[in-house]
Amino acid sequence: MSQPERESMEVDILFVGAGPATLASAYHLMKQVEAHNQRCGETGETPIEPPSILVIEKAANVGDHQLSGGVMNPRAIKELMPDYQQQGFPIEYTCSQDYFWLFTRKGTIKSPITPPMFQKRGYHVVSLSNVVKWLAAKCEEVGVEIYPGFAAAEILTEGDRVIGIRTGDMGIDKHGKPKANYQPGMDIFAGVTVLGEGVRGSCTKQLIGQFGLGGANPQTYETGIKEIWRVKPEKHQPGRVVHGSMFPDFFGQINGMWLYDMKDNLISFGYVTSLSSEDPTNDPHRASQEFKRDSPFMRDLLDGAELVRYGAKCIPTGGLHAMPKLYANGAMIVGDSASMLNIMKLAGIHMAIKSGMLAAETLVDALKQRDYSSKTLGGYAERFKESWAYQEHLEGRNFTGSNEIAPLFGMLINIPLMLITKGRGLIPFIKTHPSHAAMKKIWEVPKEVRDRPPFVPDGVLTFSKEHLVGFSGTQHESDQQPHLKVADTNICATSCRTDYGNPCEKFCPAAVYEMIDVVGKPGAKELFIHHENCVHCKTCDIADPYQIITWTTPQGGEGPDYTRM
Ligand code: SF4
Repeated sequence: MSQPERESMEVDILFVGAGPATLASAYHLMKQVEAHNQRCGETGETPIEPPSILVIEKAANVGDHQLSGGVMNPRAIKELMPDYQQQGFPIEYTCSQDYFWLFTRKGTIKSPITPPMFQKRGYHVVSLSNVVKWLAAKCEEVGVEIYPGFAAAEILTEGDRVIGIRTGDMGIDKHGKPKANYQPGMDIFAGVTVLGEGVRGSCTKQLIGQFGLGGANPQTYETGIKEIWRVKPEKHQPGRVVHGSMFPDFFGQINGMWLYDMKDNLISFGYVTSLSSEDPTNDPHRASQEFKRDSPFMRDLLDGAELVRYGAKCIPTGGLHAMPKLYANGAMIVGDSASMLNIMKLAGIHMAIKSGMLAAETLVDALKQRDYSSKTLGGYAERFKESWAYQEHLEGRNFTGSNEIAPLFGMLINIPLMLITKGRGLIPFIKTHPSHAAMKKIWEVPKEVRDRPPFVPDGVLTFSKEHLVGFSGTQHESDQQPHLKVADTNICATSCRTDYGNPCEKFCPAAVYEMIDVVGKPGAKELFIHHENCVHCKTCDIADPYQIITWTTPQGGEGPDYTRM
């Protein structure tokens, strides 16, 4: 297809993704510019021309793609807006009871003390989707433009500078041909492009690769499965926050869980599985369903309850050592995209907001000087290093590395030592590996794991992936090319099948990948992609052992609807 005519537009600052980091950043930037201009009469400084600020978001509505284990440290939102509660910040409850429990296959050991990382009293239980909607309204009040339904497909560069992004084309059929409603993507040029696409953002991945911004360690990940249930009123405990660890699995891997109560008798249950697992049959959905089935506590809690919502999302676990360089000429990275998540405390919303604020303060300098180069934008990394967010990161810096050496070494020896050595532990810097590199070949897996019978859901407490996808609200037009790009499907049918047993069929929590029989070739299989099911968790882009799956943005406005998540 020849290059189509594209519409274009130009703004001063472009934020990619409407999440807590970018929206806090856009709001803070407008407020900082306003404060600067008010001071100019006294200081004699030159006022800043109010910048044009645009936030684009791939979801149909702001907040639809936001999913989080939403127990929020209020520190950053207090700094952003000291009267946030008076302004109606959406809080479900404030944590008044925090617990840490250890789950065996059939029981619960309730720890009498809550380890420091799971102490959450005073933290707000929130729906991130609602928080982001609220932040977006605040941004609009101060003049920020927000365009939902605009998916950034690629960054635009000129030499060693980012000059904006191109949105994805709309209306291309499954054969790659334009349909009647074809509309080419738009070029949005900006002085600075701030990437806050969440975990494993596709433009961020491109930026980090193209500009060599990778951190000291590769990023590592977990997959979080989340379910919202409406429980019987007598089972509902406002202010409760539970974190739990499973006993190590066959490979020594330790999975985790969280639980907290929301308004309207809702509870949020989350189950977290490491993607650095050696197990090619690693299946986050199955693990979460089996946990519900086997845990007497969960069975009791969910007795008579009704499933309301399902979703999945990856979590960046690499922390400080995996943090990319935060800026380039014309670009900055914030939030989960920038590894701004305290994995030791399993808390990222406050870090995301803080990173956005630090980026905004640097953008004020850039606007004053009309200089969008690394020289000025590097102030963001300097501010970060001076901030409490850096200190938090420092204290958890070897958490993932400790677990990678051996989960029990981490849990019983190095992580407790980290708590008293401000993050150092026994080893100052632990080298980690990309999550996919840990996966063993299928024949190295013990027979009892490899030959486990398929999981059979009961349809009451546990459900199949296909059923649960219906509770994610996800939708994608069927007549389009899948947004999951597999570079060589021959590998799926041959070496991946024999060496790893097609792990994509297991690790995807939405039943997107299926090896189907090839017509007329008995015994042969080929990959079929049910792209409509995708819940945008990014697990496949991360966990595929051959790294031939690339998650790209589908048409703008498509994907899950994580209202209340
Ligand atoms: Fe997640 Fe990939 Fe499955 Fe989509 S296709 S739900 S991104 S694993």
